Amino acid sequence: MILIIGAGPVGLATALRLHQNKIPFLIVEKRENINIASKASTFLPAVLPYLDEMGVLDGIIDKGIKISNIKYINLDDNAELTLNIHEIKNECSHPYRLHLEQSYLCKEIIKKLTLSSAECIKTGIEFLYYINNKTGITARCRNDKNEIIQINADWIIGTDGINSQVRKSMKLSLKGYDFPNPVLRLFFKDLPEDIKHKLAGVTYFIKTKETLSILQMKNEWRVIIRLENIPKEQLCNTGFQLNYLNGFFDNNIWLSAPTQYDLYWVGQKLVQNNIIQRAMLIGDSAHSTNTRGGMNMNFGIISGILIADSITHFYHGDITESELINSQKMRLIAARELLLKTTESLLTPQTIIDDKRFSNECFRTDFIKKCSLLNS
Ligand SMILES: Cc1cc2nc3c(=O)[nH]c(=O)nc-3n(C[C@H](O)[C@H](O)[C@H](O)COP(=O)(O)OP(=O)(O)OC[C@H]3O[C@@H](n4cnc5c(N)ncnc54)[C@H](O)[C@@H]3O)c2cc1C
Repeated sequence: MILIIGAGPVGLATALRLHQNKIPFLIVEKRENINIASKASTFLPAVLPYLDEMGVLDGIIDKGIKISNIKYINLDDNAELTLNIHEIKNECSHPYRLHLEQSYLCKEIIKKLTLSSAECIKTGIEFLYYINNKTGITARCRNDKNEIIQINADWIIGTDGINSQVRKSMKLSLKGYDFPNPVLRLFFKDLPEDIKHKLAGVTYFIKTKETLSILQMKNEWRVIIRLENIPKEQLCNTGFQLNYLNGFFDNNIWLSAPTQYDLYWVGQKLVQNNIIQRAMLIGDSAHSTNTRGGMNMNFGIISGILIADSITHFYHGDITESELINSQKMRLIAARELLLKTTESLLTPQTIIDDKRFSNECFRTDFIKKCSLLNS
């Protein structure tokens, strides 16, 4: 049996894949209910075929919005560039991004899993630590009555997020750095017409080296701002937020305060090793990166599905244990390459506008593929 710790998008996608491959598993989640907080909200073209294949895309697609255009606008000189994901339609089955809160995917997977086996998800149970035994691992957990329970499994997979307890139990840590300034997200039901007519599904505006991005969701717009050295209290002040937007666009058209806002901190971090004996780390427990359109979550989901397939091959005797271990190690190499390295998929909006290579179709499609994680 495979023990999965944490019912976030990565743990749930891993579990669903194991379930559909008929490999026994159990997910243990410390919360009573899944986390519905607003977090990642972009499903990239690389992950959509997997969700489709596992039968969960149909249940969520109408709850979100399909986005194909990404636009870069420099307000200083009005230079702009639009990239259209449809340009890669011959190379991927879902040439669009789905803008939708990650919690919708979690709910859909839980619905699918519990329909066939209500016993496969145990909520209100916190994983504490594990020890190795002769055939696998023994995990110690605490239930909501404060009782310690013991679970034996062949393998343990830590998909328990950035503060992973499984990672601590493996005596590993994330190495890298935290960005000193938080990201400010403002949620608007509607935007001023003067701005709206310029927008694509994702729009990056640049002005005097500052960047602001606007994301279209099904029923709202999200404005994402990265400001340096502004005290938290000021960032949380709606008067300051509106002044900043009006200043950025040189007008006084932002009159209504956002319906909601939040601040979150990001970093660029990777674990040194993602597998030790019978314990593995997948998702935020193994890596964190800046937002960049859902890359961290999407990469984690793909890793979970690929590892579930490798585990299946191992159970069927099609691959050896060392081949399974290698497939997990490859995900660490891929994470270093795709999430952390300054590859071309991480070009800044200004460099993208300036880069003459974008007039070349091959260069453009290659770039769109990288941003869509189609090389993962
Ligand atoms: C405000 C915000 C905005 C974000 N925006 C983006 C974005 O734009 N793009 C992007 O790629 N990513 C974004 N992220 C990050 C994204 O949400 C994560 O990459 C994603 O949630 C990772 O999924 P996961 O399943 O690995 O971990 P999580 O979603 O963190 O799930 C971990 C689960 O494990 C459970 N758990 C933790 N400890 C234990 C324990 N000891 N025992 C049992 N269960 C436990 C938790 O309760 C949780 O349910 C954002 C995050 C935040 C907070």
